Amino acid sequence: MTQATPTALEYVARIAPYVPGRPVEDVARELDLDPATIVKLASNENPRGPSSAVLAAIAAAAAEITRYPDGYGYRLKDALAQRLGVTPEQLVLGNGSNDLLELATMAYLRPGAAAVYSQHAFAVYPLATLARGATGIEVPARDLAHDLPAMRRAITRETRIVFVANPNNPTGTWSEPAALEAFIDSVPRDVLVVLDEAYNEYLEPAHRADSVGWTARYPHLAVTRTFSKVYGLAALRVGYGVMNADVADMLNRVRQPFNVNALAQAAAVAALADIAYVEDSRELNRLGLTQLVSGLASLGIPFVPSYGNFVLVKVGDAARINHALLLQGVIVRPVASYGLPEYLRVTVGLPAENDRFLAALAPIVGRDLASG
Ligand SMILES: *Cc1c(COP(=O)(O)O)cnc(C)c1O
Repeated sequence: MTQATPTALEYVARIAPYVPGRPVEDVARELDLDPATIVKLASNENPRGPSSAVLAAIAAAAAEITRYPDGYGYRLKDALAQRLGVTPEQLVLGNGSNDLLELATMAYLRPGAAAVYSQHAFAVYPLATLARGATGIEVPARDLAHDLPAMRRAITRETRIVFVANPNNPTGTWSEPAALEAFIDSVPRDVLVVLDEAYNEYLEPAHRADSVGWTARYPHLAVTRTFSKVYGLAALRVGYGVMNADVADMLNRVRQPFNVNALAQAAAVAALADIAYVEDSRELNRLGLTQLVSGLASLGIPFVPSYGNFVLVKVGDAARINHALLLQGVIVRPVASYGLPEYLRVTVGLPAENDRFLAALAPIVGRDLASG
């Protein structure tokens, strides 16, 4: 018999919980597999281990963990400000860039207000919006990508935030910088545009928008980035936002005073300085993505061209194929909760991991095709 519990806010009780990629240990336990043989291509992490410079920075910071971290994040903000050509006052640090998305909704949304985002966009936009009791306006995607003109038209008087992911997860789609800037310019200045660039470093330089530069011209623009993806620090939880200093001030008012821990701050400073690690990771990703999509093409399996470190693969009965992959120790990401029940999202791994995935997939879909 379940006991009565205090009445939660009805808009909180309505939230569908986030479904993360499954941890290796979890799958190993359930299917009785050796964790060492499992390949995880489910959460868009960097498949390389952290660099030795990052590990050394973490070890040094570990000696100080009885102290609170620097709540302002002086060293990390200083390093980011220099790298990006902005002032520290334009920066907000977060416990992952997920935190920045939450902070934006805390500072700008309330019941009765609305946020606009695209269909098939990152799951945290509706989650953070609904957690404030605000209304989510989901705009139909166009060929799985953001339809920016339609998103502009969806903005109402109640709209206080528009979320744009570029590239988007889980689709891997990308908006041209010129179209993106025209969109931002068209948005009323009392609506905050949150431009989520979690995969920015994976873009070829020619594809990158001058989004940080835009924050000087567009006071209603907040750009968010993360150390979880190309920088390889997903477990430490650290990200940042770049925006007008007055907007940053608002986000800083609602953030926890010590939201970024000391190990994360030290690691992020070291990771930012390790330019070769990022370059090599982008190159490894470029090769791995080519390996995956040419493998898929030769199996005759459709996929969505990707600008990130993952690829959305159209497999048909994704739940069944996902399970068959799990039985072979390959963890990928079902995306039915994103309205994509026929797809699986596969993170680009190391070359041997990509091969494992393709080798595991081939007989399953082969059977599928054979059985019609
Ligand atoms: C992974 C991801 C993030 C944030 O990840 P954090 O680990 O919280 O920094 C944000 N947006 C998108 C689109 C992502 O895929």
